[in-house]
Amino acid sequence: MAMELGPGIPRMCPCGALTILLTSKTKENPGRRFYRCGVVFGENHLFKWADEALVEEIEALAVKQSTIENEINEVKDLILDMKKDITEIVEVVAALSTKLRK
Ligand SMILES: [Zn+2]
Repeated sequence: MAMELGPGIPRMCPCGALTILLTSKTKENPGRRFYRCGVVFGENHLFKWADEALVEEIEALAVKQSTIENEINEVKDLILDMKKDITEIVEVVAALSTKLRK
């Protein structure tokens, strides 16, 4: 198979067709699930074992999750900085209004 495939569960065959999930009935791989091009079964169309695809999918999700965790921490830091800025602004406004009242 000389197709460029991303990791994980294949949603689409390079031909543009959606994939389907089927179960192997061969002697070599009885009961093993696989993804296949939903239109054409053959060369240049997608074939991928589901167990391998799922392992890749989980690995890709783990990477995504740690990226999201890092982004959440960055946002939390930003919010803390903004809270400090707001506290300062409130103090300045309070000081100014005290001066104005005098
Ligand atoms: Zn196809």
